[in-house]
Amino acid sequence: MADNNSSSIERSSKYGYISSTRLAYLDAMGIQVWVQRSCQPQARKISSSATGPEIDPQKLSEQRIEAKVRLSPIGEEHAVSVASMEWESLRRRVTNCTLCELHKTRTQTVFGVGDREADWLFIGEAPGADEDRQGEPFVGRAGQLLNNMIRALGLRREKVYIANILKCRPPKNRDPQSGESLACRPYLRRQIELLNPKIIIALGRIAAQNLLQTDTPIGKMRGRKYMYDNSGIPVIVTYHPAYLLRSPREKRKAWQDLQLALKLIT
Ligand code: SF4
Repeated sequence: MADNNSSSIERSSKYGYISSTRLAYLDAMGIQVWVQRSCQPQARKISSSATGPEIDPQKLSEQRIEAKVRLSPIGEEHAVSVASMEWESLRRRVTNCTLCELHKTRTQTVFGVGDREADWLFIGEAPGADEDRQGEPFVGRAGQLLNNMIRALGLRREKVYIANILKCRPPKNRDPQSGESLACRPYLRRQIELLNPKIIIALGRIAAQNLLQTDTPIGKMRGRKYMYDNSGIPVIVTYHPAYLLRSPREKRKAWQDLQLALKLIT
């Protein structure tokens, strides 16, 4: 976020010093922050106590969860060939992929979007109707909310990378089936290897459970640092923006999760 523009005056709140730009994005997320308007601008500081108790990343538990499912020999061959691909060949492979039944009902594949040098990788579940039409993840209302969450972090959508567990839309937005997730997994794995982000944000239950190979409910996964596949890349779990649109009271928890992620990489 560009903090050097004139609207970016920093104000004191009961939570610390928050720029007015960031306040606007928090407001757009539906998070109201009380601001002491008479206070002089001071150095930027956002306390994690803004949305709850202080969380010390050093004390967070790290969990490594072993994969429970295995690829078939054909899937193994596919995974091996994908594992050495560069961006463009990977994109072409995804565009032409017919490995699971979802290719029959998709309008187009949704590969991912953003900066290939990004520090932040946001991973959602699968394309919805808007994404299937436009070929880009997180468009529509949920996408707008994700954009506001990204801006609240002081980032821009163009400077992060956004992808999904599945590259094709499941019919009627049903949950991905395990065979579909398994078939599609090598693509996301290779994207993560190529990106080598500093942090991954898993958006929602499906993304978190697939990424970390667990069936733990999302409410129990929040508030901890996980590690992606022994890579050293931390994973933070938060709610999916579409869920936050339906349950706006949970936005405060999502902001806590994002602050935890900020602490881990700054
Ligand atoms: Fe291929 Fe993934 Fe689309 Fe299935 S969802 S057809 S594995 S790209």
